[in-house]
Amino acid sequence: MYQRQAIRHCRDCGSPVAYGLPPDGDVRERAICTACQTIHYENPLNVVGTVPHWGDQVLLCKRNIEPRKGKWTLPAGFMELGESTSEGAARETTEESGAQFIMEDLLTVMSVPRVGQVHLYYCARLTSDVFDPGHETMEARLFKEEEIPWDELAFRTVKETLEHYFADRRAGRFSTHAFDIA
Ligand code: ZN
Repeated sequence: MYQRQAIRHCRDCGSPVAYGLPPDGDVRERAICTACQTIHYENPLNVVGTVPHWGDQVLLCKRNIEPRKGKWTLPAGFMELGESTSEGAARETTEESGAQFIMEDLLTVMSVPRVGQVHLYYCARLTSDVFDPGHETMEARLFKEEEIPWDELAFRTVKETLEHYFADRRAGRFSTHAFDIA
């Protein structure tokens, strides 16, 4: 999912860009068009997803796409323009698992500055244990805590989110956990 490409061409005129310091005193190198001088700012992207749960089990999806093809993940993906974080999380959950669910509260907010991303996961209460995964998913199935394939998870943010989910579940109280991943 989750590495981004450097900007190579101007989004306005299509000419090549060069990375350098802008003339306005900005201290960060920016992608600047070599023809029209437009500065193309790059900012972090949001990845939004859910922890879909059914009784004492959570739903994981086996990835059918690179990167990490064949590894297990929570349903998640890049937020789209025009949607809220919870709308994006719900859309990704539908696309990747075909599950029926009700959105709940925000569980994790994780800054991942190394890749310029912020990941947000919501709890989602499944209303059916029948799934219909899309092409991005080989298999969607429920796991009890002791069945989670911890060594076969696709992303660190998925592991951290599942750990918080089960810890909160044991404590009988869910809250929002905000932290950074180096
Ligand atoms: Zn240009």
